[in-house]
Amino acid sequence: MSFATLGLSEAIVRAVTERGYTEPTPIQAQAIPVVMTGGDLLGGAQTGTGKTAGFVLPILHRLSTIPAKSDRAPIRALILTPTRELAAQVEESVREYGKYLPLKSMMMFGGVNINPQIQKLRGRVDILVATPGRLLDHAQQRTVDLSQVEILVLDEADRMLDMGFIRDIKKIMALIPKQRQTLLFSATFSDEIKALADSLLIKPTTIEV
Ligand code: AMP
Repeated sequence: MSFATLGLSEAIVRAVTERGYTEPTPIQAQAIPVVMTGGDLLGGAQTGTGKTAGFVLPILHRLSTIPAKSDRAPIRALILTPTRELAAQVEESVREYGKYLPLKSMMMFGGVNINPQIQKLRGRVDILVATPGRLLDHAQQRTVDLSQVEILVLDEADRMLDMGFIRDIKKIMALIPKQRQTLLFSATFSDEIKALADSLLIKPTTIEV
């Protein structure tokens, strides 16, 4: 199995090949086809399994092959992470795997000055990687528009709940379209995670590695 046989575009295959990946990891082989066809996904995966590329690659593929519904440069994919470290890591992956695509990404997290983020949000952002608290600050100040989000990812959802982000996540959900594709990744599956998954995902494919 190769990245090309999964149907990923040549620009994406070139970027992962340059990164030194020769074949998809098991979670990538399972997740990429589901995400490429627009389905919801419930992924049970620890870090170290290659889950980041498992959602980033097919998201890049979809955004670069499906035209935006709106022409006013909206945020089309929103990736929520529990920590700034993970946000930075995921956004770095988006930039690296998307380096041959004309898509723009941005990361945002709290604990730093909000003004440069406001400035950046005035430009084009296709893919936003954010921690929930700072994203809500922007939403409350109306400096971010989430009304055109097509794909939502909750990465390390169990850690987000452990860190007390459930209320923030629910508030964010109210700001993004109901009709969207949703991917939820978690290393563990407590009743709380299952309830969250039930409330956010529609007929998801479940994969576990
Ligand atoms: P992750 O689980 O997403 O944090 O990825 C763990 C590590 O695996 C990262 O350092 C990736 O660069 C690497 N990785 C992801 N996909 C592949 C692949 N298909 N082949 C080799 N390494 C990979």
